[in-house]
Amino acid sequence: MVINFDELLVNTKKAIETVDITNEVEKSVEKSKIKNGLCVVHSIHSTSAIIVNEHESGLIKDIVRKVSEDFKRGAGWLHDRIDDNAHSHLASTYIGPTRIFPIKDGKLVRGTWQNIFLLELDGPRKRKVIVEVMGE
Ligand code: ZN
Repeated sequence: MVINFDELLVNTKKAIETVDITNEVEKSVEKSKIKNGLCVVHSIHSTSAIIVNEHESGLIKDIVRKVSEDFKRGAGWLHDRIDDNAHSHLASTYIGPTRIFPIKDGKLVRGTWQNIFLLELDGPRKRKVIVEVMGE
């Protein structure tokens, strides 16, 4: 088995935003020369997430709105006593920091409308996303 480990550095600009990292992830898969296997995309932070969906401007706004509505800032969360970002930790907990993709014939397998995004939940910040490709 071959393993290729890359780190993507992402500077986010807003409190809640999506950053499309599909091209970077696919470049990493290509560079690995792995034909069949798995690709793990993992954000190493407790206030961000990795999501997969269509890159359409209306939908992007809907995602930001849904996250803001579901994980309300300052709703009496206990963690806010420490650093005022409980809503970000909660969203990250339930959305999740990791997604896994199949690799077949040297390509990451995804649907036409499935782009890969870092979901910033407590920006702006410097973020690191791991792209680990495993296979043969
Ligand atoms: Zn915190």
